[in-house]
Amino acid sequence: MKQFREHINTKIKEHELICKLARHAYSEYNIKKDRNDFFSRIKQINADQLFLDISNNPNMNVVILTIDCLRDSQLSYNQYYRDTTPFIDSIKGSKFKAITSACWTYPSVASILTGLYPHNHGAILTGKLKNVENPLKLTKIKNDKLTLFELFYILGYRIYFRTAIDVAFYPLKGRVIPSKIPDIHHNNAEDLLDDLKRWISKRGNKPFFAYVQLGDLHEPLNPPAGFRDFFGEVKNCPNINSWDFKRREEQIGGRFQEYKENRITLYDNALKYVDYSIEGFYSFLKNSGLIDSTILIITADHGEEFWEHARLEAKNFYDPRGFCGVGHGHNVFNELIEVPLILSNPKLPNKKYDKLVSTTDISPTILDLLEVKHKLSFDGVNVFKSSEKRALINEATGYGYEKKALYIGGFKLIYSKHDEIAWVFDLKKDPEEKNPITDDELVRIFINKLNKMLTAKEALKVLR
Ligand SMILES: [Zn+2]
Repeated sequence: MKQFREHINTKIKEHELICKLARHAYSEYNIKKDRNDFFSRIKQINADQLFLDISNNPNMNVVILTIDCLRDSQLSYNQYYRDTTPFIDSIKGSKFKAITSACWTYPSVASILTGLYPHNHGAILTGKLKNVENPLKLTKIKNDKLTLFELFYILGYRIYFRTAIDVAFYPLKGRVIPSKIPDIHHNNAEDLLDDLKRWISKRGNKPFFAYVQLGDLHEPLNPPAGFRDFFGEVKNCPNINSWDFKRREEQIGGRFQEYKENRITLYDNALKYVDYSIEGFYSFLKNSGLIDSTILIITADHGEEFWEHARLEAKNFYDPRGFCGVGHGHNVFNELIEVPLILSNPKLPNKKYDKLVSTTDISPTILDLLEVKHKLSFDGVNVFKSSEKRALINEATGYGYEKKALYIGGFKLIYSKHDEIAWVFDLKKDPEEKNPITDDELVRIFINKLNKMLTAKEALKVLR
């Protein structure tokens, strides 16, 4: 029996080694292909047409850390009741609340990196009734739109991309060379940031642009042992690492309440771990003498719902999966699309701003901070110059019928043509979005404004 067990163990180890080698070979093959695709794409770009004026020789490094699924309300600097993000709270820099351009990864990441809304960059899930599980309906970033990776490469920067969540890579295929192909096993924040540290240490003299997407808050949640029970022991309820109680009829009773409490605690524990990991990365920048010469940006691609609007969703919005109230991609309520946007550098104002900004602002703000003059058009603007009165949109849903949100002047429109929903909320009086205003004239004004924004065109020929 003992011999048999040893034989089986040896076979398992051999199998693991073969799998590891196969994964490595597959990854190397894909990275080589991505490298070729990226450089043939760069050759197509007509740099003269961008009117990039780099006479000031920009040399500030830029690092974007996108924390997948991080909702703004869960940060402790927003008076959340747990001390989830003590390090992020303490970072010196400019802190904003941003509306993401979309409520799920694929279109949202493309917006962060193009400065455009999904209807302008084109990386969306098409079809009338949507379901993220159908990848055939995904469209790519339009050929004439540029990503920050391409721009930074043209500016003479070294570029770096790594994501724990594979969907963040899909819209960028051909537009970047990933440092590693996303694994089926989620890598944790320290794995990703340690790799980034190693890359920065070996980067040479050129300035660098790095984008890293952390997946620790995306299901399945697996914070390391020292953090798993940080804010209290998480009970081992079935499916506690992913989602359960996804259907409205299940969302009642003691077992549901217990699951909900423990699921949120697990999320908070994972967030504490992300905060700890970012502290480690920040210390590295400090110890390497890079704090003054680096703009560190911390943001998220979307938030996460913990059943806040399950009742409204079940009653008013069709979901092909029959789910409501959990995860992301399915709706545009605030918990799904309000995220932090932090820009940290000693030269930037150390201040928390009240005005709402957009994740489409990230690209134009970076170019302005580097003092790169250009003729590119963005939907976003420099966050430091943006007006409190401007309108912001969120669109390109992943599940169900298309839903859009428009924010303007403290009001918000939620619009879904095929669900026959057009709701306006007064966010000052009703921040939890529970009581839509029933005023047809007001709704019409907001829909007209939304339509106007969706049809605005920009034109600059950037390809040869
Ligand atoms: Zn995401």
